[in-house]
Amino acid sequence: MKKYNTPLIDQLEKGPWPSFVTEMKKAGKTNEMANDAVGHLEKCYTTKMGYWKHGGIVGVLGYGGGVIGRYSEIGDEFPGVAHFHTVRLNQPSGFFYTSKALREICDIWDKYGSGLTNVHGSTGDLVLLGTKTDALEAIFAEYSSRGWDLGSSGSALRTPSCCVGPGRCEWTMYDTLGLNYALTQEFQDEMHRPTFSYKFKIKSSGCACDCVASIARADMSIIGTWKGDIQIDQNEVKNYASKMNINAEIINMCPTQCMSYDGKELKINNAECSRCMHCIAKMTKALKPGKERGATICIGSKAPIVVGSLLSWVIVPFIKIEEPYTEVKELIRKIWDWWDENAKPRERIGEVIEMKGMRSFLEAIGVPPMPQQIKEPRKDPFMFYTEDDIASYKAKEAEEKKTGKYKF
Ligand code: SF4
Repeated sequence: MKKYNTPLIDQLEKGPWPSFVTEMKKAGKTNEMANDAVGHLEKCYTTKMGYWKHGGIVGVLGYGGGVIGRYSEIGDEFPGVAHFHTVRLNQPSGFFYTSKALREICDIWDKYGSGLTNVHGSTGDLVLLGTKTDALEAIFAEYSSRGWDLGSSGSALRTPSCCVGPGRCEWTMYDTLGLNYALTQEFQDEMHRPTFSYKFKIKSSGCACDCVASIARADMSIIGTWKGDIQIDQNEVKNYASKMNINAEIINMCPTQCMSYDGKELKINNAECSRCMHCIAKMTKALKPGKERGATICIGSKAPIVVGSLLSWVIVPFIKIEEPYTEVKELIRKIWDWWDENAKPRERIGEVIEMKGMRSFLEAIGVPPMPQQIKEPRKDPFMFYTEDDIASYKAKEAEEKKTGKYKF
């Protein structure tokens, strides 16, 4: 195995934190691809050049995605990374693996690839870094024979991902694992045969703590929430008050300022609560979400591509998330139909909504306009009254005046 002198990337091994350079060097002791990746990285740092050629058509028979082609411009100098394709494996919902499954994944990867992995990529897939074109079919055959499938890439539904949900978390408002699995099974075609204008990501979080950061990273974020009042155990509140400064840490940090504590009783104006989870996450024994549970569906977040980065925008304030998840699946199909009709290549759904307007989007998907959809006061003039709305309002008003029920 060639020995590379690596003074620059050695700097990244210093300090108290784990280092990917250390792990690459470890893998490089027995794997030529990983060893050349170490030398290649040092050269990139020395010359301040990338050398990677991204993309290209590589894949396995029957799939339009799941493998991302990577080649080095300086493959003659570093033959181990001349081809260095990335393979995405569809991760289990909530990222639960047995140690046996992880060994199985790594053993196959050691046999055909660099042995380097990224657990997990930002979409959610388990990412296997660096293999050659000739090995792809054999890799796919070995993984699929053991029940694994490729993840998604390109202009497709990206591999859906979710938080650990009911597997470990007492706050989850719905079964994120069940929904994620159902969506993955339902939309296999959309995942593996890219036909969209661009990528579409769905992420499911059980509550507003949003452990998969769906609000910033998913075209469609499904975030657990509740209806009704936060459940309060006043005795436990007193216990917390003896150990912490409730006014500083809870009351003053409430984003809608809807809480008060007078030293005896905690009060919440639930009509003003935005369900942010801050108080519940801080006083776990004293507070619980309300009893009627479901999710808020938001649309359109993404990192900068055509226009700047966007956060998700509420389209459905509350929806029950229950098997067989028909309502969510139908909504997703309607969203895709509208996007398909209106997007130019490489436009994410949030960008198309910004350009075409939330009003036409809501009309097309059959969701009525609601106050919760207003992103910024006085900036979203997408609610208009039609002549029919005004006529029916006037008729209702006249009827109420007649029966004495009319109130200003
Ligand atoms: Fe305030 Fe958030 Fe608690 Fe609601 S959940 S009361 S908005 S801190």
